[in-house]
Amino acid sequence: MQQKNTYDLIVIGDGLSGFLLLYELSKYPEFANQQVLLLGDGQEKHRTWCFWEKNLEPVFQQMVHTSWKDLTFRSDNTEIREDLGDLKYYYIPGESFFSYFQEKFLPLHPHITYRNDRALKVNGAPGDFSVVAGDQVYKAKNVYNSVFLGEKPKIDLWQHFRGWFIESEEEIFDPGSAVLMDFSIDQQGACRFMYILPFSAKSALVELTYFDPEPLGMSEYDKEIERFINGRMGKNYRILKKEYGQIPMQQGVFHHYGDHGEINLGTIAGMAKPTTGFAFQRIMKDSKALARAYFTGREAKRVDETDRFAFYDSLLLWIIRNHPLAGKNIFTLLFQQTQMDRILRFLDQQTNIWEEVNIFARLPVPIFLRALFSKLSEKMLPETEKEPVVIKDLQNV
Ligand SMILES: Cc1cc2nc3c(=O)[nH]c(=O)nc-3n(C[C@H](O)[C@H](O)[C@H](O)COP(=O)(O)OP(=O)(O)OC[C@H]3O[C@@H](n4cnc5c(N)ncnc54)[C@H](O)[C@@H]3O)c2cc1C
Repeated sequence: MQQKNTYDLIVIGDGLSGFLLLYELSKYPEFANQQVLLLGDGQEKHRTWCFWEKNLEPVFQQMVHTSWKDLTFRSDNTEIREDLGDLKYYYIPGESFFSYFQEKFLPLHPHITYRNDRALKVNGAPGDFSVVAGDQVYKAKNVYNSVFLGEKPKIDLWQHFRGWFIESEEEIFDPGSAVLMDFSIDQQGACRFMYILPFSAKSALVELTYFDPEPLGMSEYDKEIERFINGRMGKNYRILKKEYGQIPMQQGVFHHYGDHGEINLGTIAGMAKPTTGFAFQRIMKDSKALARAYFTGREAKRVDETDRFAFYDSLLLWIIRNHPLAGKNIFTLLFQQTQMDRILRFLDQQTNIWEEVNIFARLPVPIFLRALFSKLSEKMLPETEKEPVVIKDLQNV
């Protein structure tokens, strides 16, 4: 009989990575013998997720609101619409995800205790952790954490976005294709584009996305979105709801382990790809690796921050940070010269080195060389001589 407040495993954070880890652990029969505590903070969940996948598991299929076989890229005088082959682009609303986990998954696993007790601190070491949450102290051999408990890292580049869910009287959208990037808007000194998820001919999410150090005021995003919709689709629509989000576009500030050896999950483990913000699939893959490691005792192979894909990301991040206006040209060339499904496989880190050479050879080489030289010289400078970063607290990720 276990002592009260003592568990085999504590998961901190009842968001995407917390639930996906529990889901992957539950595939192992031994999981039923584990006493598990899931800690949340009682906040309402508004997230929605898009991602592409070849074979989506049935559990997630039932959460899908809309999926697309085609994606579109737009820029000035360019429209590229392509079939994704054996991939599909999926949209899962947070309500479907969380209602599945709270109403179906948790009741099937009575050995998981779910508490809204805001975690404050992790102490101890692997095999003997304690977690301070609310006015309680919980003990466990294993802790997996998906929330910032200590000082938040400084972020110098964000993907920030504002979206309107709208419904129109007329048929103004093409529900056959989601618009991944529409660069045919004024860049205003930044790297920015529209993102459109058409749910039907009459309803869509229309989102303005920036890759930029500083978020705007809400009214500035709203003015831009209104101008875009009114100019392209007319004024005959109503706004159902609005969303806002910020995702860090930064490397080297997220870690796989916390200060006491607890395992980090999700965004705080660097699972949101810094150049795109896509996290769903990476967290899914990471959860599988962590669950396997939990039951086999072998170390998990996590998404690596130091492999060649991280290096490619570092070049693009340097360009966006230092030459934001080059972003539009780079993405336009990328989509003009390379097939969409190959781009998605590249972003998934599934391409081979020859495919990658092929992709980069078609991009503006001089700016990538400048990024490369700059990265190399940064490495050679002593820490104190490096360019100071624009400092902004990590929030709302
Ligand atoms: C608006 C928005 C849209 C996004 N869209 C996409 C997308 O389309 N596709 C994609 O792949 N990625 C997307 N992302 C990236 C996103 O960060 C990840 O998809 C994902 O939510 C990260 O999972 P996580 O578990 O790290 O964090 P979260 O899902 O945020 O989970 C953290 C959880 O911990 C809880 N919590 C916070 N503090 C405490 C505490 N002290 N104690 C206990 N619990 C606590 C929170 O309430 C939350 O439920 C989006 C991000 C944002 C902000």
